[in-house]
Amino acid sequence: MEQFDVVVVGGGPAGSAAAWAAANQGCSVAIIDKAVFPRDKPCGDGLLTNGVDALRTLGLADQLKSFHRIDGAEFRYREGSVRHDRPSWGVTAPREHLDALLLAQARAAGAKVTEGTKVTEPVLDGSTVCGVRCTTSTGAQLTVPARVVIAADGAHSILAKTLRTTAWRTQPMLNLVRAVVDAGPAGSEHTMYLELLEQDGITLPAGGWAFPLGDSRLNIGVGVFSTYRNWKSVNLQRLFDSYLTSLRNAGVVTQTSDSARNLRAQGSLRGWIVGLGRGIRPAWAPGLMLAGDAAAVASPLSGAGIFKALKAGMIAGRVAAEALDGAGPQDLSQYERDLARSWGRADDLGVLLLRLVSRPALARASVRAAMRFPKLALAAGLHLDTVRSGGDAKAVA
Ligand SMILES: Cc1cc2nc3c(=O)[nH]c(=O)nc-3n(C[C@H](O)[C@H](O)[C@H](O)COP(=O)(O)OP(=O)(O)OC[C@H]3O[C@@H](n4cnc5c(N)ncnc54)[C@H](O)[C@@H]3O)c2cc1C
Repeated sequence: MEQFDVVVVGGGPAGSAAAWAAANQGCSVAIIDKAVFPRDKPCGDGLLTNGVDALRTLGLADQLKSFHRIDGAEFRYREGSVRHDRPSWGVTAPREHLDALLLAQARAAGAKVTEGTKVTEPVLDGSTVCGVRCTTSTGAQLTVPARVVIAADGAHSILAKTLRTTAWRTQPMLNLVRAVVDAGPAGSEHTMYLELLEQDGITLPAGGWAFPLGDSRLNIGVGVFSTYRNWKSVNLQRLFDSYLTSLRNAGVVTQTSDSARNLRAQGSLRGWIVGLGRGIRPAWAPGLMLAGDAAAVASPLSGAGIFKALKAGMIAGRVAAEALDGAGPQDLSQYERDLARSWGRADDLGVLLLRLVSRPALARASVRAAMRFPKLALAAGLHLDTVRSGGDAKAVA
């Protein structure tokens, strides 16, 4: 098969953004994805202003109108709730729709897209990655040579294993489930709900969200951080049910028929993991860069990963093009430096805070403190999650 300058594995946000950036700099680019688009991806579908900005950069400003606007946020906790309205917090964008748009942008920029083809392993020349081996939907084996490979194949990245990293054992991650629920005629169509969750009376480093999708539908999910000592003992289906009850008690959800079990049987409740805080460092090897969830780049305090995936992808695409124009793909350390420059300290501070509040007593105390000064806490959280992550907090619309 023909050699490409850049082969991108995975056509999610990270992969499409990487391909778009590399193609725009004149590289020949191929994207290979095992799925056929449009495809769903378990996600909360929420994008804050930094994600919206990234979509504008990728040329999707006009398409933003088709997404559902969020202009209110309600933070709930045991003793009460705090509400904060802004002209726009961001949007919800169902991933089936968003990812198909992003892939189309990459294709329009010149990337060749191959769907339904699974990458099985890298091709190595010594210790340099110089292509990938794949299996097509018909079972045919294919080798695709590349000068640079960008692995954007998600949280269970096959290519991340090439780096033989032990990062997963030490770096934090979030274990999550989500479902799309018909909430009934209640709540606000443009408010997002967030809640710190408990199990058996213990405040966990675990959260629940309910994001509005329009037409009374909510994307509801829960997640627990692996920095909690007993995180493996947390039953996410049980946690989901107790969060659903809390949303019913608050009048956000009025229908009573759904439960984690039903939603799972319908295929709506699905789980996944997200690696946090640039968990894999360095995120490159000769001929290879990891982007998005493959590099565990999601925000440490919220698990928001779409914006981080878009940004890491754009950086990886640019660095690939620059390397191919310059000293070649052996040394891609510029990628690591650019990631660090984009959000290094925010990530490290976020991971530190996360580890601190992952002790139930400290989690409780920090929520109490945050609720005494909600606007300050919110501003600090937003600053870390949005502004320090390379976005600006200006209104979306
Ligand atoms: C339940 C849940 C809720 C979340 N909510 C939010 C949220 O509200 N907001 C937010 O910003 N983030 C959220 N996240 C995180 C967000 O979903 C991820 O960070 C984001 O999808 C990362 O994008 P990506 O492109 O790196 O990977 P992905 O979106 O996972 O894309 C990877 C792509 O690679 C393909 N692929 C995988 N393996 C192979 C292979 N071997 N060969 C070929 N192709 C392959 C897959 O088919 C897929 O298309 C959530 C995550 C979860 C699990």
